Amino acid sequence: MTTVLHIERCRVCAQALFPARYRCPHCGAADWASEAAPHGVVEESTVVRHRVGAQGTGDVHLATVRTAAGAFVIARADAPLARGTSVALSIDETNRVWASASGVPHRASH
Ligand SMILES: [Zn+2]
Repeated sequence: MTTVLHIERCRVCAQALFPARYRCPHCGAADWASEAAPHGVVEESTVVRHRVGAQGTGDVHLATVRTAAGAFVIARADAPLARGTSVALSIDETNRVWASASGVPHRASH
């Protein structure tokens, strides 16, 4: 069960942020608006390799995703995601962010 990721946007200076903080690191305000961030583009990806038998989950793929809203989020993925891939973002019941490739790559060939 997952839901669409939401990020917080400062109502004073419009800085987008995830995860939420009490005060805006940019202007110091504590006045936030929640904003859906269903899509993003992979900026960087890495894989965390687990030893065989350790938790039994295998490798974990992590991607730094720039959301359309402007905030950067660290997301987990089931498979490696290349830089520039458009992804759909969701959040699971334990507040983990997941990225899954959605359609065409960001830098499609012409
Ligand atoms: Zn601010």
